[in-house]
Amino acid sequence: MSNIRTRFAPSPTGLIHVGGIRTALYAWLVARGQGGQFVLRLEDTDQKREVAGADQHIIDSLRALGLDYDEGPDIGGSFAPYRQSERLDHYRAWAEKLIAAGRAYADPYSPEEIEQFRDAAKRDKKPFLYRNHRPEDPPVWDGQTALRFKSDAKDYHWHDAVMGDLSAGAEAIDDFILIKSDGFPTYNFAHIVDDAEMQITHVIRGQEFIASMPNYLNLYEALGIERPIFATLPHILNEQGNKKLSKRDGARDILDYFRAGFLREALVNFIASMGWNDGTEQEIFSVDELIAKFSLDRVGRSGARFDEKRLLWMNGQWIKRLDLDDLYARTLSKNVIASAAKQSRKSNDELDRHVANAPRDDKMSNFWGENGRKASEAEQKKVLAIVQDRLKTLADLPALSEYFFARPTPDWSMIDEHKQLGKLGRDEQIDLLGIASSVLAKIDEADWNEENLQSELNNLLSATNSKPPILFGLIRFALTWAPFSPGLSETMVLLGREETLARLLLSLER
Ligand code: GLU
Repeated sequence: MSNIRTRFAPSPTGLIHVGGIRTALYAWLVARGQGGQFVLRLEDTDQKREVAGADQHIIDSLRALGLDYDEGPDIGGSFAPYRQSERLDHYRAWAEKLIAAGRAYADPYSPEEIEQFRDAAKRDKKPFLYRNHRPEDPPVWDGQTALRFKSDAKDYHWHDAVMGDLSAGAEAIDDFILIKSDGFPTYNFAHIVDDAEMQITHVIRGQEFIASMPNYLNLYEALGIERPIFATLPHILNEQGNKKLSKRDGARDILDYFRAGFLREALVNFIASMGWNDGTEQEIFSVDELIAKFSLDRVGRSGARFDEKRLLWMNGQWIKRLDLDDLYARTLSKNVIASAAKQSRKSNDELDRHVANAPRDDKMSNFWGENGRKASEAEQKKVLAIVQDRLKTLADLPALSEYFFARPTPDWSMIDEHKQLGKLGRDEQIDLLGIASSVLAKIDEADWNEENLQSELNNLLSATNSKPPILFGLIRFALTWAPFSPGLSETMVLLGREETLARLLLSLER
């Protein structure tokens, strides 16, 4: 196909979560992988369900992940407007065509009458179908009543780029509403009109629409519109894999992951891999690799499991991979919108304006802890370099770094509660620390380096007949009073001889 055009068409009815983002990401990857365009269209035709601010949230989420779109409600494009509530005249025009062709009719029935039809069908043990109740002489459509499609029930066979060859019998087809009595189109009608007018080539969307496919195919024919390529994505399942992912299972607002210290690279990698792989064992993919390798025919047909532990692992992997300056820059801002814009492939006035207007929360401005924040850039970078490999998220930074910037208060309960260390008696703990402290004190300032420290520590192990988790664990606590910290000798080098010895003494005094 010469010009690939995909779209993400969310309804602004709430916070966007991983399921919605995966749909957007796959559509984006198809477009970017084939030199096509990616369009954002807001489907805001259900006024009752609309949530204020949800449209901005969608835009912010896409920006934060770097899923840039070529056309959309805030940036315009050749097929503007990209908000369905601003396109009512388009739906109206297509509706008039259907009426003129005898393929749509004003629905003459009241809800009570429809209820009666339903009850009658139930009594007769037959499925209720609107098409069995077509009015013989429908009123002229005045735009105040619902407009129904006059379907042409028949069997369908079609191909879905993910689900393969599908079919459905004529019983799946009915006269559905095109335009509601409030003047707004239904999703069923509006998306087909818009996809056609916006020259969308691939309709990539969730599984919830697949049952309506026969109706859509019927409407494409009535409108004389060529079918696009369909790709239906299976549900994302909860961690146990036994039901659709819901908010309760951790389907959080995607921006919350940024606030919690997840990287864009890890989120994109993780979301892409929920239901897709390249056929190898590879798990870590950069955005560019995904663009090069993604294809719809390798998307799985059954639901993908949402495994937050895997995301955490991936995030740690991505934190390790970043070069120090890049990682450092990301620790300085929790303002995902602003930092995403800096990384975005495209920069334009619209985006800059968007960033300038993005909400800023000063209390959340940075990932460093209270003391780390006051340190110089050089000090922060030194600390970051040695904790980098242990960070699972940027939010781990204070726990892993505060003790470098300020002397921690000894808290022996941490040792008492520790599985192995807690088993030693207090005397034994103090003896071990005391020996360690006097041995370390014999190392000169000039010899205070990782290699010497490591070999002294090893000697100490055999001299005290202790094991690394015990002896090193104890020293580690005495220096950091933190639940986890980098390698002991690295930590001691960064703290420096004087501070290391002072902390050991302080801990012993306690
Ligand atoms: N507005 C629909 C939704 O939010 C979009 C479905 C589609 O992509 O066509 O679920």
